Amino acid sequence: MLRTTERPTTAVGVHLDRRPFPETVAPEPGGLPRALVLNASREPLCVVGVHRAVALVLNGKAVVLESDGHVLRSERMQLPVPHVLCLTRYVHVPYRRSVTPTRRAVLARDGHRCAYCAGSADTVDHVHPRSRGGQHVWTNVVAACSRCNHRKADRLLSEIGWTLLQPPADPRGSAALLAAAVRPHPSWAAYLVA
Ligand SMILES: [Zn+2]
Repeated sequence: MLRTTERPTTAVGVHLDRRPFPETVAPEPGGLPRALVLNASREPLCVVGVHRAVALVLNGKAVVLESDGHVLRSERMQLPVPHVLCLTRYVHVPYRRSVTPTRRAVLARDGHRCAYCAGSADTVDHVHPRSRGGQHVWTNVVAACSRCNHRKADRLLSEIGWTLLQPPADPRGSAALLAAAVRPHPSWAAYLVA
């Protein structure tokens, strides 16, 4: 958290005030609070830590859209703890960083539904098994229930007569962002509609 004895310089060069904020802002379980940043067009752009989020607001680069009611206080100002920010000026995004198909991300993309039986999935299966040359890419990984995953083992779908309920695809746009976020805050939901 912010220390009270220094004047930290943020990534965007904003000097926070001396004794910036009391340390009363509880981080979310499992880590520091994070904020969803929307472009001026209201498209989801990225997720930042609370320090960066505060810097964006203090620097006039973003406004707070959603907060949880906690307030950051300094001697000079009060600021609601940002959960969702909107940039004041549109930022052109030349490319989107690709998202790694981690287990969590694949399960999020597939809605935790097994690609074979539509049951509740908690594992990831390589459609073309890795042991037979399949790659760990979005188009070759699906969410699968442990039962289907175990039954399929290292066989090809053609060998066991199975079909995919839906072909796996690269996640795009807000789905990719959602998949990349370790744990989306509930307040982000309305802004992450694909
Ligand atoms: Zn299944």
